[in-house]
Amino acid sequence: MPDTSYGFIGLGNMGGPMCTNLCAAGIVPTVFDAAGTAARAPDGAAVADSVAAVAQQDTVFLSLPDGRIVASVCDEIINAADRRVSTVVDFSTTGPEAAREIGARLKHAGITFVDAPVSGGKAGAIAGTVTVIASGPDAAVAALAGPFDAVGGNTFHVGQNPGQGQAVKLLNNFLSATAMAATSEAVQFGLSQGVAMETILDVVNVSTGRNTASADKFPKRVATETFDAGFAMSLMTKDVALYFDEVRKSSTSDKVGTVMTGLWNAADGAMPGADFTEIYKYLRDLSDGETT
Ligand code: NAD
Repeated sequence: MPDTSYGFIGLGNMGGPMCTNLCAAGIVPTVFDAAGTAARAPDGAAVADSVAAVAQQDTVFLSLPDGRIVASVCDEIINAADRRVSTVVDFSTTGPEAAREIGARLKHAGITFVDAPVSGGKAGAIAGTVTVIASGPDAAVAALAGPFDAVGGNTFHVGQNPGQGQAVKLLNNFLSATAMAATSEAVQFGLSQGVAMETILDVVNVSTGRNTASADKFPKRVATETFDAGFAMSLMTKDVALYFDEVRKSSTSDKVGTVMTGLWNAADGAMPGADFTEIYKYLRDLSDGETT
């Protein structure tokens, strides 16, 4: 749809670079961020002064912290005077229940909703290689092929209904959170046996224990002691909690989820403002405390 105009709300760790990649692909949105748009807007994007101003575009992308904020921004879009928006695409992680509620509200207002959480982290957002996990009507998802290609390496259309994209995103993040926590514990055990971290990672990464933490987060963010994945521990804790809520409702097994939810809640409570890779420090300090 060459005549479609685009908006983008939420220019943080993910939204900022995704927006930059849209601009680079010639899809130049009108943008807004509540913390200050001009400082966060990519070169070339049109800076708006409110959500209502972005609602003057046909298709509006969101990349916001959580479902409560997405719902409130969608209400602002719905109530914007002379709004033009016909499709809202949510890249945020909000959980299935929030996505269903937001989808229903938008539908009632005559706006199509595409639930499209992303995976790949800040590094993937910068590189334009995030995985887009979309659920929504066929025609709406097909019409988004250009923008999805601009921000992502892979797009999956996992279902017709809001919430299905969120379900797949949450189970993915639960696996990522579990890998990060379990690898932290396992590496600390290896260190306690006098083996260097680099050696442990070299072995694991060509063996059956290889995972996203051992292959990516540990070499790039933990061994370097930079702890700069660009994904807040509070957001990962939110995702694990959302996953756990949905698992309990589904009555599938929640044994690992129970342990992970307790662990991430405790770490997040103890380390406000931390990056999620700092769970390594939390577990290390906990074990130091227990042995003294
Ligand atoms: P972030 O906190 O860096 O960015 C969110 C942005 O939204 C901020 O710039 C904030 O000012 C803005 N904002 C908040 N309320 C607003 C409002 N009412 N109106 C306009 N702007 C508002 O978060 P992030 O890391 O970019 O994550 C965004 C979403 O993507 C979250 O749902 C997160 O769970 C998800 N996510 C993050 C990562 C990651 O690695 N960071 C990866 C995949 C998915």
